[in-house]
Amino acid sequence: MTTVFKFGGASIRDAAAIRHLGELLAGVRTRPLVVVVSAMGKTTNALEALLAAARRGDNADYRTRLERLRHDHLATVEALFGDRAAPVTKRAAALFEELDRRHQCYRGEARPFHYDQTIGFGELLSSTIVNAWLNEIGVASDWHDARELVITDDCHQAANVDWRATTERIRGLGIAGDAVVLTQGFIGGTPEGISTTLGREGSDYSAAIFAHCLDAEEVVIWKDVPGLFNADPRRFTNAVQLERITYDEAIELAWHGAKVIHPKTLAPLRQKAIPLVVRSFEKPDAPPSIIAAEGPDAAIPAFILAEEQALVELHPRDFSFMDEPRLHDIFGRLAKAGLHAGLVDSGAARLSLCLDAHPARLDPLVASLACDYSLERYDALTLLTVRHPTDALLSALSGTRTILAERCNATTAQRLFLGSECPATWQIPS
Ligand code: ASP
Ligand code: MG
Repeated sequence: MTTVFKFGGASIRDAAAIRHLGELLAGVRTRPLVVVVSAMGKTTNALEALLAAARRGDNADYRTRLERLRHDHLATVEALFGDRAAPVTKRAAALFEELDRRHQCYRGEARPFHYDQTIGFGELLSSTIVNAWLNEIGVASDWHDARELVITDDCHQAANVDWRATTERIRGLGIAGDAVVLTQGFIGGTPEGISTTLGREGSDYSAAIFAHCLDAEEVVIWKDVPGLFNADPRRFTNAVQLERITYDEAIELAWHGAKVIHPKTLAPLRQKAIPLVVRSFEKPDAPPSIIAAEGPDAAIPAFILAEEQALVELHPRDFSFMDEPRLHDIFGRLAKAGLHAGLVDSGAARLSLCLDAHPARLDPLVASLACDYSLERYDALTLLTVRHPTDALLSALSGTRTILAERCNATTAQRLFLGSECPATWQIPS
């Protein structure tokens, strides 16, 4: 059975990281093996800035940015291959020429289309370099173009996978044997061969697509953290690693704002009960975190913080009820503004919404709601979500802090605090 590995930008950010990846893969005997890679380091952000320069028509900035990207990639090739760099340099340089050509060609097109014809070059470059490096160190590897394997519609920047066509293409590779199947995350193509992308941070999803189509045994996501935690270790001093959680729990955590795994990644795996394993790139032998159909016997409390939240309290102006037509109206406006309410609480004549204080989206929404409802807004709030809470946990976490809104059901409790009353780092009560 096939195994799928995914390496993110951090794990291939420079020559040293790519060497480390090579050592890691040289030690892995599992075959067939599909390896999905992201763009190196922060390349995708740099490509987005390059796109902006191209669209502004700021040629000087465009040239500087393109040159910097070219320089960084070719320097990595140089550092890896030394006096054997020429053939790889040639391939990378050709990709830069093609990228430049596409920018010249598509700068007048709609942005989403222009985006998809250019932003995936980060992955094309990284996969070209990594593939050559693996072969250089004796790990046989074949480069495959994900734009010809992951078949999508033409909804640019958020393309939808055509599962039947994709399965056919991926199975058509006849993956077997010793060579690593090396491909790109994040990118796909239409049946006509037009490049598309799956959305930022889409490489995990790509790995899940390959796994789904191949009925893989597991997907391993190699990260620069040891695994998944029951809280963000940077904010909770005593966060603990989760050994195993269910797909459902992972989706709940992601929904409430934990930077776990994009929920889109989990659906194709869950459908075929393919486990997702998160391992440390730095410590490959450390115990991983596993997301699978079966979780632990006892639910483990988990904690999620969302900061810079706003509370919007709405009342009908005429003292009538906050009834279904009004809820329909308000949520319709939220959907239109692209805003998600992290906490919803309602009463007979009140609706309370906790929203991300995203000024460009929230301010116009608040202005429009204020025309039809009496509205109060509170800013600079922190939303704490606790999965599998106990009363003792909640009261210890809340202390004497002011609670502006709250919600609790059998599995999840949420409390909205004043940000100014919250600590910089939290302690999970024992
Ligand atoms: N390189 C893409 C991004 O940074 C895809 C990914 O890394 O998942 O969004
Ligand atoms: Mg990336």
